[in-house]
Amino acid sequence: MITLAPQHIRLHAGFKTKEEAIRAAGQVLVDCGAIAPGYVESMLGRERQANTYLSHGIAIPHGMPQDRGLIQRTAIAVVQVPAGVVWNEGQTVRLIVGIAAKSDEHLGILAALTDVLDDAAAADRLATTSNPQEIIAALSRRDAGGSGSGDLAGAEEIEVVMACTAGLHARPATFFVEVAAPFASDIVVKHGEKSANGKAMASLLKLGIPGGAKIRIQAAGPDAKAALEALAAAVAAGLGDEEEEDIGLGVPSGIGAWEAKSYGRAITGVSASPGLAIGRLHIFQPTRLFFSDSAQNVDLEKKALVSALDAAQNQLDEIHDAVTARCGKSKAAIFKAHQALLDDEDLIEEVKVRIDSGRSAAWSWQHSIESRVAEMREIEDERIAGRAVDLHDVGQRVLRHLAGATHDTALPEGAPVILVADDLTPSDTAKLDPSRVLGLCTASGGPTSHTAIIARSLDIPAVVGAGPAVLEQTNGILCILDGTTGQLYIEPSAADLESARAYQQDLNSRREDEAVARYQPAMLTDGHRVEVVANIGKVSEAAAAVEAGAEGVGLLRTEFFFLDRTSPPSEDEQYEAYRAMIEALNGLPLIIRTLDIGGDKVLPYLPLAEEENPFLGVRGIRLCLRKPEIFVPQLRAIYRASTHGPVKIMFPMIATLEDLRAAREMAEQVRQELGVAPVETGIMVEVPSAVMMAHELAKEVDFFSIGTNDLTQYVLAMDRMHPALARQVDGLHPAVLRMVDLTVKAAKKSGKWVGVCGGVAGDPLGAAILTGLGVAELSMSLPSVAAVKARLRELSLPAAEKLARRALACSTADEVRSLLLPSGAK
Ligand code: PEP
Ligand code: MG
Repeated sequence: MITLAPQHIRLHAGFKTKEEAIRAAGQVLVDCGAIAPGYVESMLGRERQANTYLSHGIAIPHGMPQDRGLIQRTAIAVVQVPAGVVWNEGQTVRLIVGIAAKSDEHLGILAALTDVLDDAAAADRLATTSNPQEIIAALSRRDAGGSGSGDLAGAEEIEVVMACTAGLHARPATFFVEVAAPFASDIVVKHGEKSANGKAMASLLKLGIPGGAKIRIQAAGPDAKAALEALAAAVAAGLGDEEEEDIGLGVPSGIGAWEAKSYGRAITGVSASPGLAIGRLHIFQPTRLFFSDSAQNVDLEKKALVSALDAAQNQLDEIHDAVTARCGKSKAAIFKAHQALLDDEDLIEEVKVRIDSGRSAAWSWQHSIESRVAEMREIEDERIAGRAVDLHDVGQRVLRHLAGATHDTALPEGAPVILVADDLTPSDTAKLDPSRVLGLCTASGGPTSHTAIIARSLDIPAVVGAGPAVLEQTNGILCILDGTTGQLYIEPSAADLESARAYQQDLNSRREDEAVARYQPAMLTDGHRVEVVANIGKVSEAAAAVEAGAEGVGLLRTEFFFLDRTSPPSEDEQYEAYRAMIEALNGLPLIIRTLDIGGDKVLPYLPLAEEENPFLGVRGIRLCLRKPEIFVPQLRAIYRASTHGPVKIMFPMIATLEDLRAAREMAEQVRQELGVAPVETGIMVEVPSAVMMAHELAKEVDFFSIGTNDLTQYVLAMDRMHPALARQVDGLHPAVLRMVDLTVKAAKKSGKWVGVCGGVAGDPLGAAILTGLGVAELSMSLPSVAAVKARLRELSLPAAEKLARRALACSTADEVRSLLLPSGAK
């Protein structure tokens, strides 16, 4: 049972429109940490589907069932509008009771509300009172309960069990009334001693029926039988309020998200990196730099500039190497870009001109950089505008050297902290030491910012986009940061602290358990098995994949042989590397993808014509077919290596049957020349045309592996590298999932198996949905293997299939993600 408190009540409000009023009720729920802001849209969506006006100037807006994941905890908000707001024609609302229901804890309040509905004077009092306690008292009566309609004369009656586990709250009651309304018969619902008019929502709510309760439905009239049948079926099906099966996906531990129990202060942001941190806040203040604006000796200033630039370049080298070691090459690439920014000759010339005019090197540098930063921010192309943060970052680095500042961190000595900042630059984030930083919370930024990406790879729980309120908190206060749900709880209660600590312990032991069980297969509870394999990109990762629990390699990106060198690798060199990997895998399968170059990856020794749209150009197999001098040695190396263990060949970027046939023909010719046995050959399905031609392609391959990274980019027409689109390029978009579904169905017809090797395979929710869609093999980066295996072992195939059906029926990626993930954990 939940309680109403003054912070749930807003008095004396005034609105011009119903939408404003619903948003205000939603805001109260957001402010008290009950919902993520997205749920407000759901409340508006619900209102468009069904009118939540009850009577006597009272409405109860609430969200849609599929958005329940956006609710942190069950809560009620009351917004009083003494002058009224028009809800619908002829309906004016003066008391808005906004509902965020995760469970049936609010039914007591709804039951009390129905008493008010029967009493015009009481409704009027609550719509005008200046005392929130009066509203609290009226809606907190425990003895509220229906009486209303007695037995219907001459009625037929059935007994049914309330299937929706959350009970007959607002959503299912609306559904019940919608089913009952078209029938001419009178309908009464009976629960114990109480009874209610089955066509009146307010009356039904009064019954306060909990989930699993037995109810009797009576109908009297010409269509009584049909009405009872329809209502019995609707109740049995859950009254449109299907409960989501919580299998703990989306939380690394698989133990469900942590839930705060008390109504402390909470700031809602966006989940950027999952996990729970408990600690004191430290508000990060970038170091202020002091320097004089003029200088006497031009030569000395120019020398100072050159040595500051050198020092910054050296630092960036060090940071690049450290981040590569901690987070991988791709995350570290940003620091190479920073170095390139410092190589800008025009910039340096401009600074020197300023120095010549009698300014100090520091002043000149800062002015030149900041005017460029300002110009960049103005540029409409968001991709360029986004680089302003990098230029500012690198500019500050040089400036620190010029101003003689030795270090730029503002972390206090002593116990580790939850770091709060407006936003962190890439270098601020890269410097973070997980042993000193328990969690991160930024006022701005999004889940795809560098902060978020690096925090995830450092395994630091993080919340971004929490708004300016987070910067106004007192330094040093105790907080709980929930990176999974995107919440920062300020000065939580002792009970919440205790439960959060217990949760952390569970999480740690769960991770240990996952690691211990990493060699066990991903066998679902009903015996269905999914193969969990690894994506690797270098020789040493083959052994690491086995160590991580992978059952083989589902994708070897062979680009690594070809990049960062001045001439192509020889056939022998490749053969040795493949053979070393086969040996490290010791009998486990290795799927070798032939070179996928082009697009954003270019080889210095393979000059290609400049392309307007490289991702739509001569990329992947298209390039290999045009460059047999590259393709044939690779095929030879693969076939030679295949004599040492189970190897499969996979061609990337197949868009047409012609490309597949040409590639197979070249491969077959190589095989015959070498006189070795055939190997299984498959293709990446990552181009929409391959999905649409999957029936035909399936007949000519042994397997498909769906590359959801590229498939998403091509299906949604969104560059997968575009920073401004990063939030939307989501492999769990229903459009992509429907493509996966089509591919699996087509492959099954030809008896071929389908794997997925794009990023969604390593996402616990993605892995469950893909399993439900019939994908047989999931290939992912090494850190995901143990966790995905553990999650799948907790799932049954029917549950996965049900989840997949729900996902396919969703309209947006957010809807898919909210199927199981707690709010904000995108
Ligand atoms: C993909 O496109 O999903 C994929 C796995 O290939 P890559 O990321 O190497 O393009
Ligand atoms: Mg790809």
